[in-house]
Amino acid sequence: MSNKTFTLADDLYAYLLSVSLREDALLQRLREETAHDEMSSMQIAPEQGQFLALLARLSGARRALEVGVYTGYSSLSVARALPADGRLVACDISEPWTAVARRYWREAGVEARIDLRLAPALQTLDGLLQAGEAETFDFAFIDADKENYPHYYERALKLLRRGGLIVVDNTLWSGWVADPTRQDADTRAIRAFNQALCADQRVDISLLPVADGLTLALKRG
Ligand code: SAM
Ligand code: CA
Repeated sequence: MSNKTFTLADDLYAYLLSVSLREDALLQRLREETAHDEMSSMQIAPEQGQFLALLARLSGARRALEVGVYTGYSSLSVARALPADGRLVACDISEPWTAVARRYWREAGVEARIDLRLAPALQTLDGLLQAGEAETFDFAFIDADKENYPHYYERALKLLRRGGLIVVDNTLWSGWVADPTRQDADTRAIRAFNQALCADQRVDISLLPVADGLTLALKRG
């Protein structure tokens, strides 16, 4: 797992950040606060947050989904890219981590746009489907437990409109996906997910070497 673009040499990565990162003081503070947490490597990379915001704007997203909030860097980045009446359904199971996120959402003035669901994400996504919300979302970011990726993806695909965008994090998984000696459950799950997505004709795809590998899947019409 990597919260920087690990495919770039350090000097080139530093250059990329120096000429393109526009992280504001609030996001920077969230990153600094999260750095004290022992799980801080779970946080997305700052250039990735900026890219998610750009993608949300590019796709004209009004209704978005997030699976895996942690301390809120990605949700804050995406929520700020939504229109004022936009909605982000944010799924996580951790009260303490999302309490940090909520503090930053409030400070950023986007708390009203974010509907935090503290429950296993599969339960939340199934609930949205049962509530008749299929094909009503424009954008989804998947970044939680890796073994459930195929299940999150299938549900997100149903919840998205045609032309909606699913973004999946960690699809290069520090390069371990290409290392046959790595056979742990998470690595195998990501490999299987990548393989299945490559054959999935319901979407147009691209796997970008951004941060820890970021796959875009656009729902075909
Ligand atoms: N996107 C976040 C960010 O920008 O910092 C990082 C998310 S972190 C990699 C993964 C998160 O998924 C954790 O906060 C964890 O609590 C959550 N998670 C793990 N299993 C889950 C589940 N079954 N349902 C919902 N959330 C889950
Ligand atoms: Ca991640």
